[in-house]
Amino acid sequence: MMNLNKGNIKLKAEAVNKADAIRQAGTLLVENGNMKTEYITSMMEREKVAHTYLGNGIAIPHGLPKDRNLIAQTGISVVQIPAGVEWNPGERVHLVVGIAAKSDEHIEILSNLTHILDDEATVQRLSRTTNPDDIINCLVNPTSNDNNGKALANLENTESDFAKFVDVAIQGNTGLHARPATVLINLAKEFESEIRVRYRNQTANAKSLVSLLKLGVEGGQTIRLMAQGADADQALQTLKREVESGLGDEAEEISAVSLGRRLEFESAAIPGIAASPGLAIGPVFQLKRGKVVFEAVAKDPAAEETRLRQAVETAKAQLRELYEDVKARSGTGKASIFLAHQEFLDDPELVAGARAQLQDHRSAAWAWQQAYEQRAQTLEQLKDPLLAGRATDLRDVGRRVLRLLADKVEDELTLPEYPVILIAEDLTPSDTASLNPQLTLGFCTAYGGPTSHSAIIARSLDIPAIVGAGPAILNLADGTACILDGESGGLYPHPSQADLETAKTAQQDLQAIREAEKLACYQPALMTDGHRVEVVANIGAAAEAEQAVNAGAEGIGLLRTEFLFLNRSEPPSEEEQFAAYSQMTQALNGLPLIIRTLDIGGDKAVPYLNLPAEENPFLGIRGIRLCLQRPDLFKPQLRAIFRVAHTGSVKIMFPMIATLEDLQAAKTIAEEVRLEIGAEPIEIGMMIEVPSAVLMAPEFAQEVDFFSVGTNDLTQYTLAMDRGHPALAKQADGLHPAILRLIDQTVRAANGAGKWVGVCGGIAGDPKGAAILAGLGVSELSISIPSVAAVKAKLRSLSLGQTQVLAKRALQCRNAQEVRAL
Ligand code: PEP
Ligand code: MG
Repeated sequence: MMNLNKGNIKLKAEAVNKADAIRQAGTLLVENGNMKTEYITSMMEREKVAHTYLGNGIAIPHGLPKDRNLIAQTGISVVQIPAGVEWNPGERVHLVVGIAAKSDEHIEILSNLTHILDDEATVQRLSRTTNPDDIINCLVNPTSNDNNGKALANLENTESDFAKFVDVAIQGNTGLHARPATVLINLAKEFESEIRVRYRNQTANAKSLVSLLKLGVEGGQTIRLMAQGADADQALQTLKREVESGLGDEAEEISAVSLGRRLEFESAAIPGIAASPGLAIGPVFQLKRGKVVFEAVAKDPAAEETRLRQAVETAKAQLRELYEDVKARSGTGKASIFLAHQEFLDDPELVAGARAQLQDHRSAAWAWQQAYEQRAQTLEQLKDPLLAGRATDLRDVGRRVLRLLADKVEDELTLPEYPVILIAEDLTPSDTASLNPQLTLGFCTAYGGPTSHSAIIARSLDIPAIVGAGPAILNLADGTACILDGESGGLYPHPSQADLETAKTAQQDLQAIREAEKLACYQPALMTDGHRVEVVANIGAAAEAEQAVNAGAEGIGLLRTEFLFLNRSEPPSEEEQFAAYSQMTQALNGLPLIIRTLDIGGDKAVPYLNLPAEENPFLGIRGIRLCLQRPDLFKPQLRAIFRVAHTGSVKIMFPMIATLEDLQAAKTIAEEVRLEIGAEPIEIGMMIEVPSAVLMAPEFAQEVDFFSVGTNDLTQYTLAMDRGHPALAKQADGLHPAILRLIDQTVRAANGAGKWVGVCGGIAGDPKGAAILAGLGVSELSISIPSVAAVKAKLRSLSLGQTQVLAKRALQCRNAQEVRAL
């Protein structure tokens, strides 16, 4: 362990230059008996090979490895230079930490230093303190407190602590990693007060993601939340409650098919960590990252600042798109990492860190790279592998911005057009999200862990994967034949004929398992007493109709037509819409297609519509209200729907109906359009998404052919909780008894008028939710494509009677947790 005593600290020093500063730090170590005077020369020599400026006003001079024989006893010294000394052009040092390490002990001090590296306030304090103990406490073993975190209460307050605080334990086993930390930050930002989190001897800004992650808080550990400001009490109360309820962190569900037995191969394996089950056989291809080229210096700091700001904004926009894209393909859980990535870009410390360097005529690209790389290295040092893995995320975001700032990106990545096993040092979430599953037989990374987001995404895409197989894999030439066993975590280069046979047989077995599961998904959701629930799919793209049928869906219960209107510069023409709907009726081949008319507004912005900004967009001109105001959008859509109606079983559904007047007006326009075209009447339904629609359901039931309950919005409007609010995600649960009672009321009203009710919100795709909804008398469940097989299987395992009992009990619960616990 490194040793630092008061004799090795020199406060209020002055140094004429770097050599003078190194000499002073070295002299302290010599005087303390740590090393011979000659080692000072070695420290100077080292500086010629690699400079030892760490960042944020700290340097760590140490000698060359060959001169370690000059060290008598490992130790460190600290020279505090309040006025600073220039280390390299543009880099001023206030704390010179001289290191004499007999072996690699300096790594430990380096790791301790990284904890304060980005903590401007602490570094400044240490640069001026008149108490050597402040420096000792910070630099030597800052995490040496009682491992269960209970020592917190005994900690003396430091200058970075506030008077008001609460202690709270982090729930679960996975610690304060990127997703829960993002939730905590979003909550903290809602308060004016300055909020800090203390974990053992370290303090972080609760509004900065990097700062929070660096604490390395592991699952079950206690943190201290501290606040100072007008709303400090309220902030502490809220944050404590949210931390106790888990910060929205949920276990990840794994969808990949597993073989369930271990395979034996005769060839030698490169062992790695199993990350996603399945077998791949094929040539490897190494994914090499392109070089990002940029100038380090720039003339105009103001222009560089503008470039930096613009690049960060563009990167955020890219991440928003990526989030939507992955959400549509793999669900909110898998996409949420890209929300965390956006949070990195909102991190005040990260951006300020880069901006601070611009004044020294550094280019925006250079400054940005320094800022994120320094912080990524700090994260990498954390003990908890899950938290250390977030360095990959930070570098991923960092590079996204860097590419935008670069003069050129050399060797832009091109993947082969034939299927390969990808080999890479590490894959970032952005890389994984852009993989083409058709051409990616599997992937194997040298670094990274099974909890990395790449591994999670691989599992959701059903791509076999191995991580952490070590740098040896990078020596495999492109085209080397390999077997990748994602279940055992072994990569087998140059497999023997016998191994290839084993792998092929296993692949066939896996295929058979998949086929069996698939076949079951085509069986109807016939309950044990013969009652049938229709299971259909929610889709938002023309090609998904076919995917839905292939996944066992019995039709489309909700076509979100917004996809036709988003990410473009003008609305789609009637012809374009007709073509898209026709593609779907063709794929559905007679199965029902419920087309919901445009539901724009709320959180879905469409720039070319030039809609005025609204104070409360979810309560503004959204859904049917917008369509009634904009016949130029509404009528072409209705025309396209009526024209396509004779090609399949098409129904219309209106979104966001809150009043009878809205419904009447929409129906009147639809009827006008139908008569213009001369089409046959088709069924017209409405979404139940607003509490007023439930309360008026008996009247609405007289006017429509069916209801479909949009529990996402119904939950939002009933519980008054923004559906996209990260901190409310857990509470805004569609299985809350309040929502179930509204659905019950809806079903009774509909049945009274001889109409049917479907549910197309999120809870219908949750097997537990599906069972309760069946028991409430819902006859159609419209869910995301990947949930079809599981929901059908669940319903087939129960009788209607059983689900009715379940539903009755659910209606009597007091909260969503009680319902989920049934
Ligand atoms: C809902 O609100 O539950 C729903 C299905 O519609 P959307 O999610 O498209 O708003
Ligand atoms: Mg809705």
